Amino acid sequence: MELNEHNKQEYPPMHTAEHILNGTMVKMVGCRRADNAHIERKKSKCDYILPVALTPEQVQAIEDKVNEVISADMPVTLEYATQEEVKSRFDMERLPDNASETVRIVHVGDYDECLCVGTHVERTSQIGKFRISSTRYQDGVQRIVFRLDVPELAK
Ligand SMILES: [Zn+2]
Repeated sequence: MELNEHNKQEYPPMHTAEHILNGTMVKMVGCRRADNAHIERKKSKCDYILPVALTPEQVQAIEDKVNEVISADMPVTLEYATQEEVKSRFDMERLPDNASETVRIVHVGDYDECLCVGTHVERTSQIGKFRISSTRYQDGVQRIVFRLDVPELAK
């Protein structure tokens, strides 16, 4: 089986937190998954297209929900399928033009699923604590900056 190569080596706890944050934004705010993301070990940023800025209460609710999913210790599992089989479930326009016919779906428990070839933790408890350190809203783009307090064993 051949999958596309990932563009960069990501830090699995941060990258898995990104999945949970994206799923939470879709469910709680009703926007698309992040249109732009910079995932790094210490601090990450995700940008969402929103008509108005998130309120401080929404930001708190999002942080709480992500931590709830992390604490639930959900398994992160993989599923393989063809693009044809899953085209009704995902936004296929987000796949790169040269994407392989076989795609990989990453599930975070029954909370979130998305197409991804990155590296993830095995269980959400390995992510540690999720903290939104700042937000910024400009020109229809809501930026969320976040950090993790990762448990020692997963580092
Ligand atoms: Zn991923």
